[in-house]
Amino acid sequence: MIITAPILLSSHNGVPEAIEGGAIVVQRGTILDVGAASVILKSHPGHRISNLSNAVLMPGLVNVHAHLELPELLTKIQAATFSEWVLNLVNAKRHLKKSDYRAAVADNIQALIQSGTTTVGEICTHNISPTLLKQAGLRALVFREIIGMNKLSHRAYVNMQILRLGYAQVVNKLSESFRRRAAGLMRLGISPHAPYTVSRELLTKIKKIARMRNMRITMHVAESMDEVLLLQRKKSGFEKLYHRAGWDTDWAPAADSPFGYLHDLGFFDECFLAVHAVQATDRDIDLMQKADISVAHCPRSNKETGVGTMPLKKFLDAGITVGLGTDSLASSPSLSMWDEMRYAFDIHRGDGITARDIIGLATFGGATALGMEHEVGTLEPGKKADIIAVPLPRRDTGDLYADLLRETKSCIMSMVNGKMIYRRNREKT
Ligand SMILES: [Zn+2]
Repeated sequence: MIITAPILLSSHNGVPEAIEGGAIVVQRGTILDVGAASVILKSHPGHRISNLSNAVLMPGLVNVHAHLELPELLTKIQAATFSEWVLNLVNAKRHLKKSDYRAAVADNIQALIQSGTTTVGEICTHNISPTLLKQAGLRALVFREIIGMNKLSHRAYVNMQILRLGYAQVVNKLSESFRRRAAGLMRLGISPHAPYTVSRELLTKIKKIARMRNMRITMHVAESMDEVLLLQRKKSGFEKLYHRAGWDTDWAPAADSPFGYLHDLGFFDECFLAVHAVQATDRDIDLMQKADISVAHCPRSNKETGVGTMPLKKFLDAGITVGLGTDSLASSPSLSMWDEMRYAFDIHRGDGITARDIIGLATFGGATALGMEHEVGTLEPGKKADIIAVPLPRRDTGDLYADLLRETKSCIMSMVNGKMIYRRNREKT
């Protein structure tokens, strides 16, 4: 099939590049060719043609960090400090049932699809999101969340199962589900929650599993000053959370910075995605750059939890791969990547970051952060056909990317792996 549109966002070295009067050829789930419609239509005869008369065709958006199992909690758990917000979240979750998580996943997947996300980096805590993601036909890297700090007994849990099964069985279980689910659009990764909620011993085991199974790791790192203070053995605000979990604050690792701690542990390589990284120091940035780790930037979540602003410009100047993520509805008002991009542009434009840069982060940046840069993130021949169409901006200010950010709310069409998963008002074909 060939899809044409007044504008198509192709790419040059990962940077979006607009083609006026563009066309894309899709065959068996793959992009066969991209270019000016006048050329493409002649060089690829015999295809079914779909003309989108009022749209911009672009790569599907990549949301590198979400927790789809969480329902809207933001207004209920807002707090003065980050550690209190975490505690409020833990308490709020006590009242949630499996059916609440399932309903949240269903709603949240719809929100992702309608706003043009085609790939999601999902943190799965309750083992509910994988099945629904599969049914929806989204591309996903599902990271299984791991929390466990109990240093005394060395007992921790993987999605609650490890307490019942022990490590060996959990490793087997992970491998089993990996084999079962790795095929198709879904891949599995591991997400130790944060340096302050997973013990050094457990992190070492996780790293081993990840290496063995060739899995990517993502982790919340240096999100808040509370976290940094806890590791520096200062009063942090996490005392209450630790008490509530039955942990001793002495069990937290001692280090100058969360990044330094993980680096010294040998935890960093190109398969590591650090989420938030708001408190990263210049020294941390140097470590991150040398270890070739990626960063998930969740600016609205950082704003709502009051942790500060991530130094995006410094990361990009250092050549660190950055993707954008919405995080969950416990710390963000929506799962729309357009809302996330708008806000990111707002707070970083003063540093010379352009709307085009931001759209690059939400597509190719995200794909690279999830290790999928050879498959998705740009519209180029040979890549998977993950394509969205959004309305052509009504106002033309001369900066197409800024116009897109200002006006786009949702998509007209979304395609993953060549399969249409969403179509708004049918346009004539
Ligand atoms: Zn998160």
